[in-house]
Amino acid sequence: IMDLEPQKIIKLDESVVNRIAAGEIVQAPVNCVKELVENCIDAKAKHIQIILKMGGLKSIQILDNGCGILKENLPILCERFTTSKLKNYEDLQQIGTYGFRGEALSSISMISRLTLQTKTRDEILAYKVKYDNGNMIGNPMPCAGNQGTSITIEDLFYNVPIRQKTLKSSFDEFAKIFDCIAKYAVHNYKISFTLKKHGENNSIKTQISESPIDIVRVIYGNEVANSLLKVQAGDENLKFKMEGCISNANYSGKKGQFLLFINHRLVESKNLKKAIFDDLYRTVLPNTVQPFIYMSIEIDPRNVDVNVSPTKHEVSFLNEDLIVENIKKEVEAVLLKTNETRKMYTQQ
Ligand code: ADP
Ligand code: MG
Repeated sequence: IMDLEPQKIIKLDESVVNRIAAGEIVQAPVNCVKELVENCIDAKAKHIQIILKMGGLKSIQILDNGCGILKENLPILCERFTTSKLKNYEDLQQIGTYGFRGEALSSISMISRLTLQTKTRDEILAYKVKYDNGNMIGNPMPCAGNQGTSITIEDLFYNVPIRQKTLKSSFDEFAKIFDCIAKYAVHNYKISFTLKKHGENNSIKTQISESPIDIVRVIYGNEVANSLLKVQAGDENLKFKMEGCISNANYSGKKGQFLLFINHRLVESKNLKKAIFDDLYRTVLPNTVQPFIYMSIEIDPRNVDVNVSPTKHEVSFLNEDLIVENIKKEVEAVLLKTNETRKMYTQQ
């Protein structure tokens, strides 16, 4: 017989609420790395270095040469909802930074041991500081250091036993991080990225470059880079522009890649992917071949909702069907043009 006794409602402890919220934002090391890298880019860093132990499960260290953090900000840095990027709700309409909700560092500090060292241009010294559960431990310690910020995350999920069990191997976690950094490096080709496993050679090393294709060459290889064709689309009424590159009809890669950035955010779009991969390339490429696609789309920010959960990557935007159709048409034109030339050559 079911117990129908109503239960008393209580207000959860702040520490419980915080840890539950943190678990939603950081599901795997890659979520941490992405948040931290976005912070470096927001801080205008030109160089970002990432060093991992055990695919980030043991430690993640991120160094940047960005603007650094003011000493006076350090005490509340890892509290929930503390940010330098947003003041009013209305600012969300034209937010130019990746961050705005002030939740990343706080979440990470709830489920790991976080150490940070930072130096601004105008300070003579750097400061080193540790956090636990959102709180600064002791006072910032002055030390020598270069301009920028270095954050070390150790023992991620040490207090979330279930996450430790469900996470994949450090091999898989590293692969996810590699994929994420590769994509950010291509899109942010004016920033140099280094990714490596502690004590090993660089897995990714890019230089400040002239175009995304230079980075594709470094990370994904010559075969991909040599096959790339530039594409562009845009429409004033639909208020969007797209620039990117697509592998040509001769490309024979087996592993499809879709690097999609909308307003500089790494996102996914089922509709666009279907239009390009299934509806378009399937008619041009053999079944076993998957294209490599990089697209950077800029849409009037008023037409895209950025206020979704940080781990939700699927986007939707106004006039989606029309924009997708428009992009598909341009990609098709570029692809068929080169396909025709190829046919002509091979028939001669
Ligand atoms: P958000 O990015 O949404 O503001 P975060 O928790 O990611 O929230 O970061 C909180 C604040 O810490 C940022 O607003 C920024 O002022 C500062 N910060 C974090 N990382 C860096 C960094 N690498 N360089 C400079 N400032 C940083
Ligand atoms: Mg952030």
